Amino acid sequence: MNKISICEARQAEAIGQQATLQGWVRTRRDSKGGFSFLELNDGTCLANIQVVADADLPNYESEIKRLTAGCSVTVRGEMKASGGKGQATEMQAAEVTVHGWSDPDEYPLQKKRHSMEKLREWAHLRPRTNTMGAVMRVRNRICRSIHDFFQEEGFLYVHTPIITASDCEGAGEMFRVTTLDPANIPLDAKGQVDYKQDFFDRPSYLTVSGQLEGEIYATALGKVYTFGPTFRAENSNTSRHLAEFWMVEPEIAFYDLEDNMGLAERFLKRIATEVLANCEEDIEFFQKRIDDQVLETLQTIAEKPFHRISYTEAIERLEKSGAKFEFPIAWGTDLQAEHERYLTEKLFGTPIILYDYPDAIKPFYMKCNEDGKTVRAMDVLLPRVGEIIGGSQREDRLDVLETRMKEQGICPEDYWWYLDLRRFGTVPHAGFGLGLERMVQAVTGITNIRDVIPFPRTPGNAEF
Ligand code: ATP
Ligand code: MN
Repeated sequence: MNKISICEARQAEAIGQQATLQGWVRTRRDSKGGFSFLELNDGTCLANIQVVADADLPNYESEIKRLTAGCSVTVRGEMKASGGKGQATEMQAAEVTVHGWSDPDEYPLQKKRHSMEKLREWAHLRPRTNTMGAVMRVRNRICRSIHDFFQEEGFLYVHTPIITASDCEGAGEMFRVTTLDPANIPLDAKGQVDYKQDFFDRPSYLTVSGQLEGEIYATALGKVYTFGPTFRAENSNTSRHLAEFWMVEPEIAFYDLEDNMGLAERFLKRIATEVLANCEEDIEFFQKRIDDQVLETLQTIAEKPFHRISYTEAIERLEKSGAKFEFPIAWGTDLQAEHERYLTEKLFGTPIILYDYPDAIKPFYMKCNEDGKTVRAMDVLLPRVGEIIGGSQREDRLDVLETRMKEQGICPEDYWWYLDLRRFGTVPHAGFGLGLERMVQAVTGITNIRDVIPFPRTPGNAEF
């Protein structure tokens, strides 16, 4: 039983082999000459393999001629050169075994093309579509490049906790974790919720970022990264926000903001280069069917230097541009998506790194600049996608950090362990966070973030 994948079976080298293929039927076509063509897919590549099943097979009438979309089969036979267009090989079947039938009156994935919205209702079946298959293969490739990149650069993979009691600067609204019975919440003498009776003895949440814990490990082990699920209970129904998403967060001791920008640029270039080199067929599909700028976006990320401009400069450029925006531009306010897109697409045509943001719009842990009004923050913006990375050099001075915390209404005592890192052998350090799903969106051109993750979690959606 020489089991090979359909991806392997489609290579010219497979010709002449006796092989076994296993997968799901996409279509069946019967020819007048007394044989049938089956299009088989197993998810290992976008394309199907054509199987030729002759009428003299023993189960031809009883089974093969009843095969429809979704049926699962094992096919044994010989790989041959194909005369068909768009394929080097096909299989001449010697034996077709049917594992599972799929009632054509009920199976939803028939020939008709469904909208992405409709497919979300069938989260259990949509991985069998061309689009989701291609998304998942590209997503996998990106994850592999992420690990390869950091491992080769000498980073240590650290698993930061998913349940936490610290709220990382209020990066977003948090999900509570509790074993208290909502119908019977215990109260203390003051009438407040008595968390002493809760599982962790204190209010606990799902993490919004592994950064603070990342800093703990970076200030002992040098270069670390964490890569895991992240949760934000922001009730925003946008095409770029999920309640559960995956974030990659490197954190590096003895790094300043310049080093951090360099790392972010090398990192994104590595991902784009490897997707281009390894996902050719899937990217071609996205280019044709989803977004005809996908290839250009990837090449731009891979090849063009990222422009680096300060927030202040960006505001000036936007003001001078004469362009009309829905949201007015003013120093001190956050840039809106329309401003970000104008900068990347119209003004520069490349990814850009914005740095040195006003302190009032950034969290307490970012290092303060000498000017007394900006912090060493950076955002990486991609054409069409907008913000993909947010990061900063961290404040390494104990007194400045404490002042910033108080300014932002954060109690330093709650972060005694974080402050200890500045008390004992403090070092300049920096890091950033990349949202995996935003990266998948950037390289596939898929407009809604719900369609680049297997099971999207958004307000009102968590059935399966
Ligand atoms: P945004 O302004 O786009 O809401 P943010 O500034 O809140 O993002 P950060 O806290 O800087 O995000 O998180 C780092 C990265 O994580 C972002 O650059 C983005 O790629 C990703 N990210 C943040 N929030 C989400 C979310 N809700 N869903 C998916 N990805 C997200
Ligand atoms: Mn951000």
